[in-house]
Amino acid sequence: MSTQLVESEWIWKDGDMIPWREAQVHVMSLAVQFGSSVFEGIRCYETPNGPAIFRLHDHMRRLHDSCRIYRIDLSYDVDALVAACRSVIARNALKECYVRATVLRGYGAAGMNPVGSPIETYMITWPWGTYLGADALEQGVDVCVSSWQRPEPNTYPSNAKAAGHYTNAQLIKMEAVANGYAEAIALGPGGTVSEGSGQNLFLVRSGAVVVPQTDGTSLLGITRDSVITIARDLGIEVREQTVPREMIYTSDEAFFTGTASEVTPIRSVDKIPIGVGRAGPVTKQLQRRYLAHARGEVADAHAWLTPVQEPVPATAAG
Ligand code: PMP
Repeated sequence: MSTQLVESEWIWKDGDMIPWREAQVHVMSLAVQFGSSVFEGIRCYETPNGPAIFRLHDHMRRLHDSCRIYRIDLSYDVDALVAACRSVIARNALKECYVRATVLRGYGAAGMNPVGSPIETYMITWPWGTYLGADALEQGVDVCVSSWQRPEPNTYPSNAKAAGHYTNAQLIKMEAVANGYAEAIALGPGGTVSEGSGQNLFLVRSGAVVVPQTDGTSLLGITRDSVITIARDLGIEVREQTVPREMIYTSDEAFFTGTASEVTPIRSVDKIPIGVGRAGPVTKQLQRRYLAHARGEVADAHAWLTPVQEPVPATAAG
């Protein structure tokens, strides 16, 4: 499992490129003390037309939304963030990488009112392989239902991707790993299915795709939206609905979606095999199609790819 961070040379910070090791914050920054930062995880893929970033504008829009929810005064519009992201990937000469965009509250205020702490924006890139293990995309993963639940709506705003929320995600993940599972599915406060520690959940039953609805307990994943779009493009029925826990065990197939996890089949939950206990045909079809879109192997019908470098204009014939 690729858990180790591989350093790149440069990090974008508020308009400048700074060496990786110089991207430091003070221990009294509100981001460190109270988890006051919002972020995005984005992937850049090698495509036949050079490196391209998957759904970059959508990620930067969500970063803006997270700032809005947390009253963070972000100095950059979506286009400026898009340009910054492209420039740091180009500067690090990376063909495939993960991008972490972070907006944090720095050093200044001491208490809960953050006025007086500067806002700092970073774009960090590093090569990152399959999140849930080398064989996960092919073989699938064994997961459990967590004993930790996701927060109630109107507590931590789940649609904001804020660092502080991930203390809950770490509890979910650490318990799962301690018990020998790759990941866990967490329930919401009402006991119905919410999501993984860093992934959305999909089920397949009788050929139809079932996705837990947006209920204020889970993040509205961009991969989730991509896979729903792809499924509908392929003529597969998609139902967003309340999912009771037991529906997981009786599904024919299950899989996780996320930028880091991509489309990862789930082969068992709480040691109960899902379907025949390996990646099912609908999961495989959606996974293949998702990766084909991300890698630029099929027409970019939804304009999901942003090239890292400006395409060279075609020269006139002759
Ligand atoms: N839920 C949580 C809690 C996450 O952290 C992530 C990863 N960002 C997801 C779902 C999947 O979101 P996305 O597809 O936008 O990466």
